[in-house]
Amino acid sequence: MKQATRLVHAGRRPADHYGMVNTPVYHASTVLFDSLEAFDASNADPFSGVHYGRLGTPTQFAFESAVAELEGAHGAVSSCSGLAAIATALLAVVQAGDHVLVADNVYGPTRKLCDGLLARLGVETEYFDPLVTADELATHFRDNTRALFLEAPGSLTFEISDVPGLAAVAHERGATVIADNTWATPVYFDAFGHGIDLSVHAATKYIVGHSDAMLGVVNCRDAEHFRAVRQTSIALGYCAGPDDVYLGARGLRTLGQRLPVHEANGLALANWLAEQPAVTRVLHPARADHPQHHLWQRDFTGACGLFAIELVPGERHQLGALIDGLDYYGLGASWGGYESLALPVEPSGSRTVTRWQAEGPLLRIHAGLEDIADLIDDMAAGLARYTAA
Ligand SMILES: *Cc1c(COP(=O)(O)O)cnc(C)c1O
Repeated sequence: MKQATRLVHAGRRPADHYGMVNTPVYHASTVLFDSLEAFDASNADPFSGVHYGRLGTPTQFAFESAVAELEGAHGAVSSCSGLAAIATALLAVVQAGDHVLVADNVYGPTRKLCDGLLARLGVETEYFDPLVTADELATHFRDNTRALFLEAPGSLTFEISDVPGLAAVAHERGATVIADNTWATPVYFDAFGHGIDLSVHAATKYIVGHSDAMLGVVNCRDAEHFRAVRQTSIALGYCAGPDDVYLGARGLRTLGQRLPVHEANGLALANWLAEQPAVTRVLHPARADHPQHHLWQRDFTGACGLFAIELVPGERHQLGALIDGLDYYGLGASWGGYESLALPVEPSGSRTVTRWQAEGPLLRIHAGLEDIADLIDDMAAGLARYTAA
């Protein structure tokens, strides 16, 4: 089965639901059983079947099996947000006294989780330069290093680590490799083919794709990791909302058609921006001038619509003039919906072992599904306001 076909058919069982194309939204807490025997049989295996709303509904299982099949995982565990999925993955593998290696470019709340909750539970986090070589990374491993956490590309600064090289070192040392693959989605990066054990996605972004639900998922390479992640999720009491998990399953069906438009718009915008005098740098892995473009070419099969630009140095009010007058780019957190966004970001505050070097402000752009001519015209007027203000 080719990927486009899999996106359409994975995880759907219309015959189980009166022929409905999509698995319907099951709202549930109590699940009733016909007999004590059926109740006892159900409780004997908490990893399959429907027992209680929090432990999973047919809507949830339909989403999980679709995402797992798409990425080639043994199984998927969904969660109420991307951050909850990250927490579940980490807590599934660490215990008090462990050491984890985390790339310095990770999503800010991932870092807060490590420095706060994990530290309090006796797990030590050591950050490393995401551009280290495998040999350099090897020197950071200790006997108690339990996990390596990567995010490639980083969602603010877009560096790309040597994922398979670093993963191989972690596996030699017996550590689990966790990666936040939200940027690439399961469509543009083969996580398990590149050595990842737990592939985490903020499904809130492209999988849901319409900016209207919170959802996360951990795709697990093998049965052992799946069991640990499911058990952790159950212990934490995490469960995705029924409408949200439905929207994730529905969004998945068009992911393969939406992403190429985001990619084409993003790249066209990035290439145009690179020619503008108000722009000093474009951070887009699919452009030949990106410092790890070769790694993107080697490991990824596409780029989503998220990238960043560095502007010539300017004051906050100039940024305000640029952003406030935009017609088609919204100002707000998150990305991956059908609409374009432009967000000033400040990476230096969320790094400790590498320095973010930039003269001017960084603007993160999400290219939506609008017509590229409108996106360029709108941004051209914005850059003119920036320069004039
Ligand atoms: C948004 C995001 C998350 C967190 O997802 P939520 O659903 O907002 O909790 C994690 N990682 C990356 C890279 C993100 O962009």
